[in-house]
Amino acid sequence: MNASAAAAPSNGIPRVSGKRVLVYSLGIEGRDLATWMLRKGASVTMSDTRSEAQLAAAGAAPPPGVEEVVTGRPLLDADGFDLVAVSQSVLRHSPALVRARSLGIPVTSQMRLFLQLCPGHVVGITGSSGKSTTTALVGAMAARAGIDHLVGGNIGEPLLQRLDRVTPGTTVILEISHTQLQYTERSPAVAAITNVTPNHLDQFNWDEYVGLKRNILTHQDRDGIAILNADDQTSRALATSARGHLRWASLAGEVAGDGTWVEDGRVLIRSGRRVHEVMPAASIRLRGRHNLANVVMACAVADAAGLPHEAMAAAAAAFRGVPHRLEIVGLAGGATWVNDSIATAPERTIAGLNSFAEPVVLLLGGREKNLPLDGLQQLARERCRAAVCFGEAGPLFHEAMVAAGVRAELVSTLPDAIERAATLALPGDVVLLSPAATSFDAYPGFEARGQAFRDLVAALPGFAAEVAP
Ligand code: ADP
Repeated sequence: MNASAAAAPSNGIPRVSGKRVLVYSLGIEGRDLATWMLRKGASVTMSDTRSEAQLAAAGAAPPPGVEEVVTGRPLLDADGFDLVAVSQSVLRHSPALVRARSLGIPVTSQMRLFLQLCPGHVVGITGSSGKSTTTALVGAMAARAGIDHLVGGNIGEPLLQRLDRVTPGTTVILEISHTQLQYTERSPAVAAITNVTPNHLDQFNWDEYVGLKRNILTHQDRDGIAILNADDQTSRALATSARGHLRWASLAGEVAGDGTWVEDGRVLIRSGRRVHEVMPAASIRLRGRHNLANVVMACAVADAAGLPHEAMAAAAAAFRGVPHRLEIVGLAGGATWVNDSIATAPERTIAGLNSFAEPVVLLLGGREKNLPLDGLQQLARERCRAAVCFGEAGPLFHEAMVAAGVRAELVSTLPDAIERAATLALPGDVVLLSPAATSFDAYPGFEARGQAFRDLVAALPGFAAEVAP
C-alpha cells in the first residue's frame, strides 16, 4: 500500500476516513486513539506486546469495531498501513517506529492529535517532578474562579473523547509527560516547565530528554507564554527557545521581568510593572519546599491563564495534595506513616525527605532505573533513622545505604518492609514510603503500590487515620 495515501494535509491532522490505521498499545491512550479513528471512519488494527491475560488483568479491552487485535508478541509490522497511532509508552526509537518511519508511514499520538484539534485555550504543564501537583493546583484555581475548564493529559483518561465538550472559551489544563511530547508539533498557548532533572535516563539520553521537555514551548507563536523555573539551571537555559512571552517562577527571590516569587513569607506576582501579593506562604497547607515551588509555579500559570488572584489564594489554602504524593496515611506506633509511592526516582525521594524535620524510617525499593544515588545517600545519612530496602532493587539500595553509613535492613517485599519499619520507628518519627524506584517488579503501577501501603498501614496495631495538624 502506498503510505503517502494518508499524507497529512497542511494543518497536520491526518485524513483517516477509509484508511488502515495501526494502533500501538491497548492502554488508555491506545483505546482513546482507536475510538477516535473508528469514529472518523478508519479501519483499525491494534497491537500490544502484553498477553491476553495481562491485558484482561489491566481491563484493557479493544473498543467495539476494531478489525484485528494482535497481542502477546512484538508490535505488528506497519507495512501495509496508512497511519500508525501510538501510545506514549511506545518510544520513538523503538524498532516498530523506526521501521514505520523507514516505510514513510506517518505517526501520530493522542497528545499530538489533541493539540492539533483542541479549540480551547490550552495550558500545558511538564517537568521532571511536580507536574501532577501543579496541574491539580491550577485546576483547583480554575474551579474556584468558576470558569469553564477541563483538566486532563497524563492522568490516565481518554482525552480525545472529551474534545466534544471543549469550546473556544474553555481553558484546558493539561499535565504533559516527556513521552507525550515525542510526537507533538504544536505547543500549548501557555506552557510551563516545573524543572528538568535527571530522570528516565533508561529511556533517553540527557540531551534527548531535555529536547522533549523543550518541545512543550518550541511551537508557540509570539502570543504564547512560556513559564520557567528560575531556580533550575536546565529550565532557565530553555528561555532561549521561547518564542513568545517569558515568565518566571522562583523561591530564591524577585524574578527578572514578569513572574511569581516568594519574598518575606509572601507569594508575589509581577505582570507588567505592577507587583501584587497573592497570599502569605503560611496559608499553604502542602508540606515541603518543593510544594511551595509547585504553588508558586501554579500561580504563575494561573496568572498567565488570566485567573484572578483571589481564586489562586483560596485554592492554595484549601489544597491538601494529590494521592500517593506525600499523602499522610495516619499514625501507628506513635509514628506518622506517609505514602509517597509516586517517588520513582532518587530525585523525588530527596524532595520527599526534605519535606520532614522529623527522623525518617525510609522504605526504598522496587525496580531501579540506573540513576545516580549519591545525593540520596548523602541526605539519608543526615535524615534517616534507618532505611528498609525491598523488592528487586532492594540489594542495590541496601548496599548504597550501608556505604553511606545509614542503618539499613534488607527484606524481600513491601509488606515485609512495613512490618520491619514498625519495629524500627520511634514515637514522633515519620515512616516514609518514597521508594526511589518504579513499582513494576511487584505492582502494576505506583497507585497499586501506594494502595497496598495504605491498606497494610491501616492494619497495623493501634492505627489511627486522624493526624493532628
Ligand atoms: P509528577 O506529576 O511530575 O510525577 P507530582 O506532583 O506527582 O509530580 O509529585 C511527585 C513527587 O515528586 C512528590 O511526591 C515529590 O517527592 C516530588 N516533587 C513534587 N514536586 C516537586 C518539585 N517542584 N521539585 C522537586 N520534587 C518535587
